Amino acid sequence: MNQFKYNVDPSIDKVFIYGFGFTGKWLTSNIDRKVDGFIDTDIKKKGEKFNGVEVFSYEDAKNFVDPKTEIIISTVDIFDVVPLIDKLDKQKVTPIGYFLDNTKANNNTTGEQDEYIEYSLRTVEYSHKNYRDKNKLFIRSLDLMITERCSLKCQDCSNLMQYYKSPKNMDFEDLKKEMKIVCEKFDFINEIRLIGGEPFMNKEIYKILEWLCEFKKFEKIVIYTNATIPLKEDYSDILQNNKIIFSITDYGSLSKNTKVVTDFLDKYKIPYRIHTPEYWTDSGRLVYENNNKTPAELKEFFSDCCAKNLYTVLGEKIYRCPFVANADNLKAIPNDKNNYVSIHDTKENIKNHLYNTEYLPGCNYCKGRSFESVEIKPAIQTKRIFDYKKLQD
Ligand code: SF4
Ligand code: SF4
Repeated sequence: MNQFKYNVDPSIDKVFIYGFGFTGKWLTSNIDRKVDGFIDTDIKKKGEKFNGVEVFSYEDAKNFVDPKTEIIISTVDIFDVVPLIDKLDKQKVTPIGYFLDNTKANNNTTGEQDEYIEYSLRTVEYSHKNYRDKNKLFIRSLDLMITERCSLKCQDCSNLMQYYKSPKNMDFEDLKKEMKIVCEKFDFINEIRLIGGEPFMNKEIYKILEWLCEFKKFEKIVIYTNATIPLKEDYSDILQNNKIIFSITDYGSLSKNTKVVTDFLDKYKIPYRIHTPEYWTDSGRLVYENNNKTPAELKEFFSDCCAKNLYTVLGEKIYRCPFVANADNLKAIPNDKNNYVSIHDTKENIKNHLYNTEYLPGCNYCKGRSFESVEIKPAIQTKRIFDYKKLQD
């Protein structure tokens, strides 16, 4: 077993972990001294604690980080965090992924399954190591939307399912063509996130999974489900592939089959994480007022958004976020080539859109998803199909 312990230089006075996620929490028990705090860009996490270690906002950090402080980066979106940390007067910055090497969960006090923690550590490892290699086309995750259908009808779904009048599944043959091209263009994709709607609404999901598992270009396939649809015993062998992992949102009484699904996963030793809906904000609405923001305003809007790196492939295009992907799919925003990059485009142009975009024209039609957005009650159900303006032919 690959034992891990991070040793802090004795010349350091204070140690902070940037990122209050699984890797950050795990690190508190796998470091050779007491951590002085977490720093997180998401101010909704401020004041939370884990292992007795408190979360501070980035603004707070400006007051207590000094030239004898070490900041250990534990987030996957290292490219968003480094420019912020650069502005702080610290002694040392350590991307922890450089020190991970297929590391085992070992001393795991997070309450999550060891397999889930190991997957998180591996994601951080890949993200940090590939961040150094500017020649590669690497992304941490790619959302693959295999259906517009959902078994729930949340009025504030940030993927805009509440706007689809005749939702449909993605055609398997089209998906194969699309993903073959994607795999030719990318050097590596750490994980494919299978999403919808509810991905199990697409009855071909098992065939899709079996086919996707053959690809070496991605390490994991994460299935995002609301646990309303029981899994099929007949396909348990497909789900036991070590690439597959589940992320289950437990919507309480709405998630009718949570126990059935988790019993199945336990029985076949398929790793998963189960959680209640987290940090919902008022971002699931198409906006048709004030659609003339200046480029400077749009840049700020985009820069503050927590969803701008949720790369999504849909209709042979790669988008920066699921909002624009679905708004364009619905034809609810004007057609603008700056909202996406075609999978048929050159590797250089794909890289440019994914790494260097400063804003999307589609941000004009979005309420935004900044870390400072107010939380709303999650998963309020509606029977209504929401209206929108059709702005494309
Ligand atoms: S947020 Fe609700 S409607 Fe949207 S995909 Fe999830 S369960 Fe379905
Ligand atoms: S449209 Fe812009 S602001 Fe809205 S979620 Fe996407 S990137 Fe964020």
